[in-house]
Amino acid sequence: MLIEVTATAVHRLSPSFVRVELGAAGLADFGVEGPTYDQRIKLIFPNEAGELPQGLGEATWWQDYLALPEDERGSIRTYTIREVLGTGADTRLVVDIVVHPAPHGPGSSWALAAEVGSRLLVVCPRKGEYMGGIEFAPDSLERLLLVGDESALPAIAAIVEQLPVHARGTAFVEVPRADDVQQISGPDGVEIVWLPRDEAPVGQRMHEATVAHLGAVAALPSVADDEVEVGLWETPEYSSSGEEIADLPHEHSALYAWIAGESKAVTGLRRVLVKDIGLDRSQVAFMGYWREGVAMRA
Ligand SMILES: Cc1cc2nc3c(=O)[nH]c(=O)nc-3n(C[C@H](O)[C@H](O)[C@H](O)COP(=O)(O)OP(=O)(O)OC[C@H]3O[C@@H](n4cnc5c(N)ncnc54)[C@H](O)[C@@H]3O)c2cc1C
Repeated sequence: MLIEVTATAVHRLSPSFVRVELGAAGLADFGVEGPTYDQRIKLIFPNEAGELPQGLGEATWWQDYLALPEDERGSIRTYTIREVLGTGADTRLVVDIVVHPAPHGPGSSWALAAEVGSRLLVVCPRKGEYMGGIEFAPDSLERLLLVGDESALPAIAAIVEQLPVHARGTAFVEVPRADDVQQISGPDGVEIVWLPRDEAPVGQRMHEATVAHLGAVAALPSVADDEVEVGLWETPEYSSSGEEIADLPHEHSALYAWIAGESKAVTGLRRVLVKDIGLDRSQVAFMGYWREGVAMRA
């Protein structure tokens, strides 16, 4: 559903994160079947005049958005539901927005200026209607491997906090700084390894930690910039590069890997995990959440 929401709370969680709670009486109709895990949503930020785009229909919002003059549209970016608070008309969606270094896009700029009462449009699932947007879908919870940078921390945290108690595995989370580390409560069998980036290149720490965890050689594969697909999305259900997915073997494999973050870093990990280590494609999801130096489009 498409809904106008208001920030009911805004909190600077840490140097790199602003947490916002987004509320609207109409969120009483929000809902997914089962855990939200890495449920993605679209946030539509105001245009330069500070106005939200007008006249977007519930079912036709995308076409209506594209039909607006560019300076009236505002900007769309993708985020994750970190948590759902309250019930009924008091339902609030919690979103953790990375406030990244300049150049700031509409997402990080909005978060830096947000205050209680700031308004946004949200595209999110309506109760009883399938919208998609949850990629975390392991066959088995025996050996989970979750890897991501700060953009994927809200998803990893939401996944870990909603796992059943018997789940086992490891999450590697690369964050810009040590004081971006968060408290996440999950099953005892799921270890969270924090990897402050400090001055290292984006993705290097999570790459090295992941390949070492899998017993491979930790060398970074050289991925040329023109080999990086900004919208990299390789899951058991969809391949952005057009790889054959229909005939994937669905053998039970103990390891399930969910990996998201900067597209070049994720491309490098994909190369090692699928090509070098030979992980079964049906047991991995690799998702480019952002691309260094590139402003995302809806
Ligand atoms: C499924 C999915 C879920 C996501 N969930 C979240 C979430 O919960 N929280 C969240 O913060 N992001 C999340 N992201 C990532 C977010 O959509 C991108 O980071 C987006 O580019 C942010 O928009 P922006 O307006 O801030 O910057 P843009 O206008 O897209 O880009 C402007 C500049 O900022 C740089 N930039 C963008 N993101 C980052 C970053 N994280 N670190 C450093 N530089 C950056 C770009 O390289 C570019 O140079 C998610 C993405 C996807 C696909």
